[in-house]
Amino acid sequence: MSTETATRTVPFFNYRKAFSDRLDEFTQVFQDVVGRGAFIAQKDLAEFEQNLANYLGVKHAVGVGNATDGLVLCLRAAGIQAGDEVLFPTHTMVASPGSVAAIGAIPVPVDIDETGLMDPALLEASITERTRAIMPVQLNGSVCDMDRIMSVAEKHHLLVIEDAAQALGAKYKGKAAGTFGIASSISFYPAKILGCMGDGGAVITDNDDVAKKVRLLRDHGRDEDGEVVCWGLNSRLDNLQAAFLDLQFRDYDDTIVSRRRAIARIYHEELRGVEQVHLPLHPDNQETIFHAYQNFEIEADSRDELRNYLKEQGIGTLIQWGGKAVHQFKALGYGDLKLARAEAFFERCIMLPMNITLSDEDARYVAVTVRKFYNG
Ligand SMILES: *Cc1c(COP(=O)(O)O)cnc(C)c1O
Repeated sequence: MSTETATRTVPFFNYRKAFSDRLDEFTQVFQDVVGRGAFIAQKDLAEFEQNLANYLGVKHAVGVGNATDGLVLCLRAAGIQAGDEVLFPTHTMVASPGSVAAIGAIPVPVDIDETGLMDPALLEASITERTRAIMPVQLNGSVCDMDRIMSVAEKHHLLVIEDAAQALGAKYKGKAAGTFGIASSISFYPAKILGCMGDGGAVITDNDDVAKKVRLLRDHGRDEDGEVVCWGLNSRLDNLQAAFLDLQFRDYDDTIVSRRRAIARIYHEELRGVEQVHLPLHPDNQETIFHAYQNFEIEADSRDELRNYLKEQGIGTLIQWGGKAVHQFKALGYGDLKLARAEAFFERCIMLPMNITLSDEDARYVAVTVRKFYNG
């Protein structure tokens, strides 16, 4: 049989399959948690937090409502105040600068480097006397050039708050993404590397004071005795979601991260020599960056035509953030600011399907179809 006409459907992300493959195990967890009536801040949350902190090699992981809240709480706990400036890379979800704006501080966009991440060489030019922090974004499961970012931060006495929403499991020179600055935030949105069945996030920190403050802030400013010691809000990770996360977190590296890396390897093998595309780091090229492949974001010639062709062949793709860097959203007030590399990047970027529901055959089909688009 000819493979020419073989069609396969590979959605960009299959929300149903991502969780229904383990439905029996999730159902057991559900029955256990409901059987105990354990919904808010119970042992499942504490256990998951401990497992997460151990995995990352830090003292504290604090479950929060979502990673955006997590960033807000990091900023507040670190003492960032209204009017302070925080540098962020313009290729990111609007949540990163949105968290800065949420506390009345000023998010200042910085252009990206050739890897698509915050360009450390551009930081100093954006620093003013009001700059208080740098927010590197560990995008796509990769990690920024943290040596250079940390050295700029040290030189100018700036705090570093990482947006590690997409980077659980990624490492830079052996050190876990999310453990570089004073605090970081991780997301458990369903399509993230470790996803729950709704919203969820965690703040990661080695700093006892920050951890204590975030625990207060996420629970109405109440301490363990119920005494209100500061203004707070409600942003707790649901105990049930923590239990679902903990189930998937057992064996995380060997199941979830390694599976994503295996898919990246297939994409690299099948797309080798296709000059019209630029791929993210090869998984075996890991002296500096151990990539967790939250996304497989490529740059491609004739991007829009490629996207349509893949769609016709049953393959779903996504262009991140609705196709714009943050500073390009008119309503956000960056006016005519030009950040040339990010703008050029957004003419070419597209993400291929990348998640653990893909079979090897799915991944090969995607890559071969990309190759066919260019080479016939
Ligand atoms: C998903 C994401 C967030 C927000 O995470 P939520 O848990 O949905 O709030 C922030 N930053 C980046 C880079 C993300 O990808």
